[in-house]
Amino acid sequence: MISFLDLKGINAQYREELIQACTKVIDSGWYIQGSEYKEFEKEFAGYCGTKYAIGVANGLDALILILRAYKELGVMKEGDEIIVPSNTYIASILAISENNLVPVLVEPDINTYLLDPAKIEEKITSKTKAILPVHLYGQTCQMDKINKIAEKYNLKVIEDSAQSHGAYFGDKRSGNLGDASGFSFYPGKNLGALGDGGAVTTNDEELANSIRALANYGSHKKYENLYKGVNSRLDEIQAAILRVKLRYLDEETSRRRAIAGYYLQNIKNENIILPNLADEESHVWHLFVIRTKNRDGLQKYLLENDIQTLIHYPLAPHRQVAYKEWNHKEYPLSEQIHNEVLSLPISGIQSIQDTKTIVDVINDFE
Ligand SMILES: *Cc1c(COP(=O)(O)O)cnc(C)c1O
Repeated sequence: MISFLDLKGINAQYREELIQACTKVIDSGWYIQGSEYKEFEKEFAGYCGTKYAIGVANGLDALILILRAYKELGVMKEGDEIIVPSNTYIASILAISENNLVPVLVEPDINTYLLDPAKIEEKITSKTKAILPVHLYGQTCQMDKINKIAEKYNLKVIEDSAQSHGAYFGDKRSGNLGDASGFSFYPGKNLGALGDGGAVTTNDEELANSIRALANYGSHKKYENLYKGVNSRLDEIQAAILRVKLRYLDEETSRRRAIAGYYLQNIKNENIILPNLADEESHVWHLFVIRTKNRDGLQKYLLENDIQTLIHYPLAPHRQVAYKEWNHKEYPLSEQIHNEVLSLPISGIQSIQDTKTIVDVINDFE
């Protein structure tokens, strides 16, 4: 069986270094916000090209805290509207709801599956305060167009970079393409911890300070509370693990690109739509997503041939029970995408041999 994602194998590459990093933390006697955490924040900000990175508990919290900080700073208030793609992982939308802000869904571009800049302006009202583009599957959105619209209407741009560590748009990386960005280090992400983790990146000092305080009980100074905050911190031990893995991220990405390149060149089945990419550097291939009318048939056929695939995602956010109020609405492109996409195995340790097997099986599918 070719598994969808061999996390054990991925982390086994760095086993000795990871054990050393954990041992160092265990022996330090300092388990929350110690030197590993501080160093990781510096290194991750450096990697993204931003002035600040703030380690938080997970990717959803990263997005929640950005919006919460903007509320505390008076940039937005409850009931304000945030523009977000209709096809995304639900967490992008949950972060908005959690803040009692209103998610305004915008249909994607059917070719890239990303937020369509041409459909944003018609959704802007006097209550719109931000655009939240999601670099879905690892490819950056058209940030030049999105930032231009944001400038015209005085909106914040909050990137969801949970799937796009290291992806470029022009000469800047994901995390440095808007006003603030949320990252996830969930184990299966391109930069994955051995547990939960997340970060916010930004160049805005005031915002960074506010998020840092909010994530630490609302406290900027021990026992002094500016806000009614929460506890959302990146663990010291996860920070130590992430420092090891960050050093290999670009190498992992280039191996993912090689697998994606092989798929793109060799899948030749006219029933299958391959991913559309703007340029090499804009995509870090968190997922390699193909599209076909007979998606369920293809998935079953691949499984019969010992190839495991997944669907990202089977149900559109507006069809979820959690968003009952939207169940009657129609987002046809998003629904079509949810009905037709299939994610093929891809990782930095996948062999060309396995990749070739997958390609051959797909090319034989009728
Ligand atoms: C994974 C993910 C998140 C949430 O990150 P967690 O660390 O799991 O909370 C948010 N947005 C997108 C697009 C994701 O893929």
